[in-house]
Amino acid sequence: MRRFGYRQPNPRHQHRLQHKPRLNEAFRLLRKNGFIARQGFMCCMGCACVALDALAKKRAEAGKPAKGIVYYHRQDAEYFEGGYKGTLMIRFMSPSDMDADTAKVAQETIEIFTAAGVPTTWDQEIDHCIEVDLDVITEESSTVSAV
Ligand SMILES: [Zn+2]
Repeated sequence: MRRFGYRQPNPRHQHRLQHKPRLNEAFRLLRKNGFIARQGFMCCMGCACVALDALAKKRAEAGKPAKGIVYYHRQDAEYFEGGYKGTLMIRFMSPSDMDADTAKVAQETIEIFTAAGVPTTWDQEIDHCIEVDLDVITEESSTVSAV
């Protein structure tokens, strides 16, 4: 029987990000609160920024400006899935690109993540990512008991 060049999934690369209900909830809440929020968006930061700028512009033109832009790109996800430091880098921007607004986007993102049960670490530097710990948000390794 002919094979169709189907690649067998490598069990060592089972994507742990499939088990991320709390992270999904955090991103859902961000969108509900007027943010542009995307997971695994585009291949890298350069491509993501271009695409997100365009999205933000579209929103502004439609009279519904985004409060902020929050995302991680596919390379971030791959590091995360590979268990790199066990940390997912959450990236954020302000449509205005003003420092004070960017800091506000980060603060509000952290509040929403916390509400969704996703603890974060951030050093208050607007050009540094918000970090999310792998073990806390993946279902299979969660130590938080069900309620
Ligand atoms: Zn790219």
